[in-house]
Amino acid sequence: MNDDCIFCKIIAGTIAATFVHQDDEVVAIADINPQAPTHVLIIPRRHIPTALDLQARDASLVGRIHEVAHRIARERHLENGFRVVVNNGPGAGQTVYHLHFHLLGGRPMRWPPG
Ligand code: AMP
Ligand code: ZN
Repeated sequence: MNDDCIFCKIIAGTIAATFVHQDDEVVAIADINPQAPTHVLIIPRRHIPTALDLQARDASLVGRIHEVAHRIARERHLENGFRVVVNNGPGAGQTVYHLHFHLLGGRPMRWPPG
């Protein structure tokens, strides 16, 4: 728990969010400023600032995160197209320094992303 972290506060229940999934390692919430009809954030409960802070021991955690993302994508019938995105660092637009994976879907998407 990082006292200054909005996602730690959401996980602790002191800030409200719409939870889509919760287990012992991972939560998923609806993004407050959705960029697509489905925009869910899959977040490890442990405060890990960025993807570069992941270690070899976190391999199963990253697997769990993708498993949750794919389950939500299937539930929402997004098999035709969705993205799982990590914005890592200021140059990539990371604004919350508690690792999270964006699940985006439900509209056409172009490549490359901006
Ligand atoms: P990033 O810019 O990759 O760090 O993504 C941070 C995401 O967190 C953005 O898409 C925000 O809209 C989202 N966000 C920020 N505060 C909240 C909140 N209180 N509840 C849900 N999503 C949030
Ligand atoms: Zn945190």
